[in-house]
Amino acid sequence: MTWNRLPNGRIIRQRPDRLKLRLQDVPIIPLEHAPVSNSRKPQGASPEVDYSTPDSDPRRLYGRTVTLFGAGSVGGGLLERLASAPLRINLIDDKKVEKKHLQGARTIYEPGHVGMYKVHAAKLRMQRDHPAATVIPMVYNVREILTSKLQALIDESVMVAIAIDDPEQILRISDLAYEQVELIQPGVHRQARSGHVAISMPRVTACLRCTLGVTDSEPIRRLDSEAGNSVDIGTVTQHASGIAMEIIYSKVMGRRITRWDTSKNLLFITNQRDDAYSPDGPGLSWDSGRKRSGCTICNP
Ligand SMILES: [Zn+2]
Repeated sequence: MTWNRLPNGRIIRQRPDRLKLRLQDVPIIPLEHAPVSNSRKPQGASPEVDYSTPDSDPRRLYGRTVTLFGAGSVGGGLLERLASAPLRINLIDDKKVEKKHLQGARTIYEPGHVGMYKVHAAKLRMQRDHPAATVIPMVYNVREILTSKLQALIDESVMVAIAIDDPEQILRISDLAYEQVELIQPGVHRQARSGHVAISMPRVTACLRCTLGVTDSEPIRRLDSEAGNSVDIGTVTQHASGIAMEIIYSKVMGRRITRWDTSKNLLFITNQRDDAYSPDGPGLSWDSGRKRSGCTICNP
């Protein structure tokens, strides 16, 4: 029997990879030869291609509000993917675009944005590339936002995403959001070799403190401005945006979440082969955060 250690310290038993077993039995059909169903398209309809599917029609998201804290590498990447839908996005960040942010395609910013507030530059870029979305720029450090104002932002949102590095503020936002709204917190670990996406759902999952195993005395480690491959950061962002869109669609369309097992709420992403928990190379591993006894947020 093999035991693996997850990055949060938990030891789990290695199970046989069910996908691997299944792929041994299933012939792989190239996509262009796969049968395509066009049954939804009425005869004589306009030649405009409709890319919506029964469970993800972007038009249904029009005007729904998402609040995104942080407009750095992860926050900006998340914004760009969310903005492909006609969402109203509150974007909170108080920093300016610097030359260093343009290196290695780590961020969404361009040379003409240097010196601007990130939220203003992000709004301009989304207006150009994703005009259906509306970005509401807010030049604030989360520390400066009054709790009543922060609560109002959370309450008007269909989902909240935390892409800032300040551990205290991550917990402050997630504590306020826990009872109210679905929340995700993507994190990029040392040199972006791995990352995670923590998901919090009101009264269903454990709170973010319990999920990440943090206490007041032992907070989340800060990871600001660490070197990392932009593709690896993008991998974490990509997973975070897929989870975010699934949460938004499931709420707006009133359907079940189908993209992951919702009894799990912590996704680990490894970008490299790692003997400890990803021996076959880059991969994903899901875990469920446990509500700790005595937690005043999720287990009062
Ligand atoms: Zn808790």
